[in-house]
Amino acid sequence: MFTCWKTANQLRHVDAFVYALIRQSHRCASRYIFTNGYAILIMNSLERVKAAHKKSIFHRSDITASKICGCFHCGHIFPPLEIEQWTHKNGKGIGQTALCPKCSIDSVIGDKSGFPVISKFLGAMKDHWFSVIKI
Ligand SMILES: [Zn+2]
Repeated sequence: MFTCWKTANQLRHVDAFVYALIRQSHRCASRYIFTNGYAILIMNSLERVKAAHKKSIFHRSDITASKICGCFHCGHIFPPLEIEQWTHKNGKGIGQTALCPKCSIDSVIGDKSGFPVISKFLGAMKDHWFSVIKI
């Protein structure tokens, strides 16, 4: 089932040139809805959890600009000021990937990522990235 998230990250203003470029590409055009000068990217749930995962690393600027963050390993939802541990240090020794203040896993996304920091979405992320195969 396809759903549409009208988030800042996925709702991009397009000018006529970009609009024409996207329309020319049949594959792309089928994944966008055009309305009032905006192109809305349509992603299914699998695409969303994969795209959101890319926002869980090297995301310090996203996290510090977020109002709320969530961990898709333990489900903890918290303000970014709770984060004390970072990994993936840059050349200046500043960590670029947040670790969850509750479980210390690098599974944090912020609302600036463009994805919803709500329990339902974090649960879908956990199901995909931390699912246990029972044998
Ligand atoms: Zn956690």
